[in-house]
Amino acid sequence: RILLNTVLDQSRENVKGIAITVQDITREVALNEAKSQFISNVSHELRTPLFNIKSFIETLHEYGEDLSDVERQEFLETANHETDRLSRLVNDVLDLSRLESSRRYQFSPVEVHQPIEQVLRTYQLNARDKKIELEQDVEPDLPPILGNYDLLLQVFGNLVGNALKFTTAGGRVVIRAYRSPALQHHPSAESVRIEVGDTGIGIANKDQKAIFERFFRVENRVHTLEGTGLGLSIVKNIMDKHSSLVNLVSEVGVGTTFWFDLAVYESAASVAASPTPHQ
Ligand code: ADP
Repeated sequence: RILLNTVLDQSRENVKGIAITVQDITREVALNEAKSQFISNVSHELRTPLFNIKSFIETLHEYGEDLSDVERQEFLETANHETDRLSRLVNDVLDLSRLESSRRYQFSPVEVHQPIEQVLRTYQLNARDKKIELEQDVEPDLPPILGNYDLLLQVFGNLVGNALKFTTAGGRVVIRAYRSPALQHHPSAESVRIEVGDTGIGIANKDQKAIFERFFRVENRVHTLEGTGLGLSIVKNIMDKHSSLVNLVSEVGVGTTFWFDLAVYESAASVAASPTPHQ
């Protein structure tokens, strides 16, 4: 879309000309539309758990005495679950909006085995409960990469959380890290490849692009109350900040592997100092 601005300086008696500027506002319009769409999606997503919580409380309040202890307990548990869902949603929305603000994140050398081990410790109990093997396969003596520790922790957490969610008992989830030949956008920069693989339900080809969109969730029976549909948008956003793309290979019924490359600290530093800008 084009915005036409005409400026006529009427304060002068002899008008010598009119300034016309032509501005392409296609991007602004698209951004505004995306923002309103996001706000309307968020409101919609917030309304469902809120409505459920309110209904449960009202029922307990009005008919609590007619319900059995077991029924009352069930109502309270469901309301509690819905509250968890609401707070997950709010947290994810806040994370996304923080990531999209112009805030600058601190980048420093990160030994990738550290966030990987931290995430494994966090999810080990959950994996054991679900009877899924959760393991790491990290090449020894990897060079540190240039990144933001907390953001990377969030990426690993979201990917491992999803892998566990969409894998059934007896399955396996592995985080791998190894030296990767070169960064696509800068062949002289060394990198470390990270993979999160699972033996879960897989993602059909037709859905593979859309899963990074906000609130997109593949239609399937495994859907529980747990997801927000924002986890992978957050992952994509964080990897953007690391100048890296998130890729996936997946086959329905076989499993999924998400992978990305992170620039090695030293080569990233030398690339930044070289005349060719690091994109
Ligand atoms: P959610 O909170 O629903 O997990 P995400 O943005 O993290 O939201 O993921 C979007 C959708 O992508 C999920 O709802 C699911 O349908 C699909 N998905 C993500 N990770 C996996 C995986 N490891 N295996 C199968 N499907 C997945």
